[in-house]
Amino acid sequence: MARCDQGYLCRVCGEEVEQITESTLYLRYVIGEIDPEVLHLAPESHLRCTPTLAQFIADERFEAIAPVEDAFAIDSLDPDFAAQRKELVTRGYRRLWEIREGRARIRAVNQYPLPEVIERWT
Ligand SMILES: [Zn+2]
Repeated sequence: MARCDQGYLCRVCGEEVEQITESTLYLRYVIGEIDPEVLHLAPESHLRCTPTLAQFIADERFEAIAPVEDAFAIDSLDPDFAAQRKELVTRGYRRLWEIREGRARIRAVNQYPLPEVIERWT
């Protein structure tokens, strides 16, 4: 199978990232942390393999992960920052589900991000 026919491989566990709702890369993209020009160059990983980001997802569709136990743990962060981060990351995660389920009427990758991210780019 040609390289382009596969999904990206997770740099943490080495398994394929099969769904957009598992993708750290696309979550960071929809919340505006990765520019479209570097989307295909940035390293990919499963959300479940990236607890420093995944700990901010508050959605029942996301399976709970082991707590982060270092300076990046949600409890070690400034509470306001943590709350904002949780809101943003959770909205991004739900956006990925809209894309996966085809509910967002999105055809092109440049329409994936949250509205305020798209606005910032234009
Ligand atoms: Zn992984």
